[in-house]
Amino acid sequence: MRLILLGAPGAGKGTQGALLAKGMGIQKVSTGDLLREAVRRGTELGLEAKRFMDAGELVPDDVILGMVREVLAEAKAGFVLDGFPRTLEQARGLDEILDELGIDLDAVVVLDVPDDEIVKRISGRRSCPECNAVYNVYFDPPAHAGICDRCGAALVERPDDDAATVARRLEVYRAQTEPLIEFYARSETPVRKVDGLRDVDEVQAAIREALRP
Ligand code: AMP
Repeated sequence: MRLILLGAPGAGKGTQGALLAKGMGIQKVSTGDLLREAVRRGTELGLEAKRFMDAGELVPDDVILGMVREVLAEAKAGFVLDGFPRTLEQARGLDEILDELGIDLDAVVVLDVPDDEIVKRISGRRSCPECNAVYNVYFDPPAHAGICDRCGAALVERPDDDAATVARRLEVYRAQTEPLIEFYARSETPVRKVDGLRDVDEVQAAIREALRP
């Protein structure tokens, strides 16, 4: 299965993508996670990306496409893309990469969540800098406050989750990423909209249902 998860920041792409990947035996490819890892390791790419990320702006398309090309070539069992593509240029670049690899997308899943809920979700978000697990202090807290259930590391707030940066990320989403829904609606890949304003398990079940042939 080869999927794209589209939706605003905080819509649940990371959480739902991880569940899909586990349940379907495919790879979750999150460009945000890859970039944060590069920032953590202090690579050249990480240093370049950090100033865009901290400002809530998008990292340049060529940087992102180079990164994704490498990963997709290795994702033989299938993949779910979380946070990519985010611009028309990236969507066209993805089409080229898929052509080169001789593979097709199975579906685009759009997670629909209203803005006021998004702001609430993001303010409660805590993530693990070691294994990228994501929690929410209101809806999905870890067993022990501030500690990752999976690997025991101390949880952190993402530097780009402050109110001003979130507002900018939402603006960028509306202007640059939301038009991709229309782009894929005109393509041969089916687009499935799912109401993301429910419990994690209910949203996951709705996605699975939407993906049934
Ligand atoms: P995310 O974890 O998907 O919310 O991404 C966090 C930040 O990483 C974004 O606000 C962007 O600055 C950057 N980023 C992640 N994915 C992309 C992408 N596909 N294109 C451009 N920038 C990205």
